[in-house]
Amino acid sequence: MLTQAPRGTKDVLPAESYRWQYLEASMRKAAALAGYREVRTPVFEHTELFLRGVGDTTDIVQKEMYTFKDKGDRSITLKPEGTAGAVRCFLEHNLYAEPLPCKMYYLNAPIFRYENPQSGRLREHHQFGLECFGAKEATADAELILLAYHLLQDLGIKNLSVEINSIGCPKCRPVYHTRLKEFLGERIGQMCDTCRERFDRNPLRVLDCKEKKCQEITRDAPSMLDLLCDECRKHFEELQDCLDQAGIPYRVNSRIVRGLDYYTKTVFELITETKDGKLTVCGGGRYDNLVAEIGDQDIPAVGFGMGLERVLMLLDSDGAGIPKDPWYEVFVTYMGANRPHAFKLVQMLRADGIRADLDHCGRSLKAQFKYANKTGTQLTAIIGDEEAENGMVKIKSMAGGEECTAPVQEACSVIRSMLR
Ligand code: ATP
Ligand code: MG
Repeated sequence: MLTQAPRGTKDVLPAESYRWQYLEASMRKAAALAGYREVRTPVFEHTELFLRGVGDTTDIVQKEMYTFKDKGDRSITLKPEGTAGAVRCFLEHNLYAEPLPCKMYYLNAPIFRYENPQSGRLREHHQFGLECFGAKEATADAELILLAYHLLQDLGIKNLSVEINSIGCPKCRPVYHTRLKEFLGERIGQMCDTCRERFDRNPLRVLDCKEKKCQEITRDAPSMLDLLCDECRKHFEELQDCLDQAGIPYRVNSRIVRGLDYYTKTVFELITETKDGKLTVCGGGRYDNLVAEIGDQDIPAVGFGMGLERVLMLLDSDGAGIPKDPWYEVFVTYMGANRPHAFKLVQMLRADGIRADLDHCGRSLKAQFKYANKTGTQLTAIIGDEEAENGMVKIKSMAGGEECTAPVQEACSVIRSMLR
């Protein structure tokens, strides 16, 4: 127990954190290009926020939340998604009083869901999410889809498909609900337990079932797209116009409904094909009524969430290269009594912006070399007795070949030129 992390969590080890940092840098860059600025909100919020914001008919609220009473007897929940917290923050700080749209992103936000851990499904995962408040036009939906698509493509993820749908608004969706319930009513007996539950609480999500049998049964279910009101239809058409203009491939899929109750109009997912089947990396949509549901401002919004672990998983399987980050550029080795000389050289190198270290464990010269080799350092510097006496240092390329001796004062510039 003591040396085992809780089920469904994952450590990021020192040897792999550069991959996360690379991803984070790419994400920050993509967000900033489109005018999104970072927001950081707490890891936990009042439970009430998610009951109201995520919707109490969702799987998240029904089964997946980490909820507990704090010492002051308040019900607290660890964030099970990023949007509700962003909306709370937007309202609390009156960000709607500033020029709109208010564009924000969160990066590496830990998300907690009590799920059955499996490949690509953790109990603590991390999301990159964008939210755009105060923009009702479809250009905002389109820009988010494009941002996610280009980001993943630039990272080297292949077989990416963009699937979009419109699930209408409170004006047109009730009509659809009735039609769908009529259709499902005759068939629900043959469907899975989860679908039967959903049939009563939220029939739309029956379409989202991952069971083959259920998908088969709902293949000819009525489509929301045939029943959209004028406003929703126009919005959806304009979204498609924008995506056509941008020239990215996408598919209209009337089965994409998303797991959260707050969506209106546009919903979308970015899906990849892996050897184990389809994997959704990014999901999002428009939530024009959520801000009013939580606060008293009626402000439309749109956003998405992208799972970092899933992106990294795909980068692994696609073999896309994340440039390796060298641990050390120079490892300074020394003979016994010259340790302080080696220490001084390391400080000089670091002051010059060169990644350097020396042995802190009392190893023999031979063992220092062996260790240096394991760190993957490009160069080693050697301070033997003779070098120490003459104020010199020997520099050696680990790949073989190059080797030279230079005065310690010139070590930085010689090393720089050898690193190039
Ligand atoms: P799924 O249908 O796979 O359960 P979801 O609809 O619950 O996904 P969202 O709430 O849309 O997922 O979350 C946005 C993104 O976060 C997902 O597209 C995915 O990349 C990632 N994600 C969601 N749940 C997990 C999890 N348990 N472990 C790892 N990543 C996750
Ligand atoms: Mg889920």
